[in-house]
Amino acid sequence: YIQLLGWPFQSFATLPNQVHRKTVKKGFTFTLIVAGESGLGKSTLINSLFLTDLYKDRKVLNAEERISRTVGIIKHTVGIEEKGVKLRLTIIDTPGFGDAVNNTESWRHIDDYIDQQFEQYFRDESGLNRRNIQDNRVHCCLYFISPFGHGLRPLDVDCMRALHEKVNIIPVLAKADSLTPAEVCRKKMKIREEIKQFGINIYQFPECDSDEDEDFKTQEQILKNSIPFAVIGSNVQVESKGRKFRGRVYPWGVVEVENPAHSDFLLLRNMLVRTHMQDLKDVTREIHYENYRAQCIQNMTRMVVLERKRRWSRNS
Ligand code: GDP
Repeated sequence: YIQLLGWPFQSFATLPNQVHRKTVKKGFTFTLIVAGESGLGKSTLINSLFLTDLYKDRKVLNAEERISRTVGIIKHTVGIEEKGVKLRLTIIDTPGFGDAVNNTESWRHIDDYIDQQFEQYFRDESGLNRRNIQDNRVHCCLYFISPFGHGLRPLDVDCMRALHEKVNIIPVLAKADSLTPAEVCRKKMKIREEIKQFGINIYQFPECDSDEDEDFKTQEQILKNSIPFAVIGSNVQVESKGRKFRGRVYPWGVVEVENPAHSDFLLLRNMLVRTHMQDLKDVTREIHYENYRAQCIQNMTRMVVLERKRRWSRNS
């Protein structure tokens, strides 16, 4: 590259600022789906992660209602603003997951939902007005694993395998405060082994470039080693020893949601919001959506060829 050091007018070095200003003006969108058995603390964690009460109108169903109900998808959207940057966050909830007698249906709803969003985007992209497409594609699936089982349950394996080609799966070990640190460690190892053994493709953190600084590389390694993130959620503020924090109070002590010694909550939040949101969107666009698009085009081409053959045989 030629170094344009002495240019008399302001040059294209301002391009990053121009791009930045334009994207900030437009605002950002991010869609997250939560999946896993009901009662594992999904809504509590989402509220804790985004410091909002997304579920204030939620009615918790009793056991009978949960079993008889066909599993439905609920969409919550919230606008968040931080230092002038706007984010439209959409949370797709799958309540009742794992409650029904036939649980295969639970993940089929998630599967269909993800496909429908891809389909809508594909239509909009091929349509006349491509300028104002609303991107509702699902960028990430937080998959909640029970802390009470011995690793993954068959339903977890089936669900993750059904979704892994369509969405970035991030597994989390729910209610980590019910486990000792040694148990958390053992469970994480077991779950990581099972993920490998069953061929589940979870979201892969991007490889670091060799010129990346050491701090960044260490942070990335910590993230990789923390999978599945052991999380704790709470909807209440606790006051203890003159400090206020989100936590859970027990007769024997207090658990702090944001304390790295107690859970991976901060790691997960930083990763989702600060460091990897764009990568999750890029992988969705470049890999999951591209797969969907290629499949669609292939099917359409096959149908055109079949139709042509049919017409040809009719006319001959
Ligand atoms: P969801 O059905 O998966 O959305 O679960 P909820 O968020 O409604 O939580 C179900 C119950 O678990 C509630 O009583 C919560 O207070 C409790 N809970 C939520 N998060 C945690 C956690 O991290 N640890 C523990 N021990 N309990 C939790």
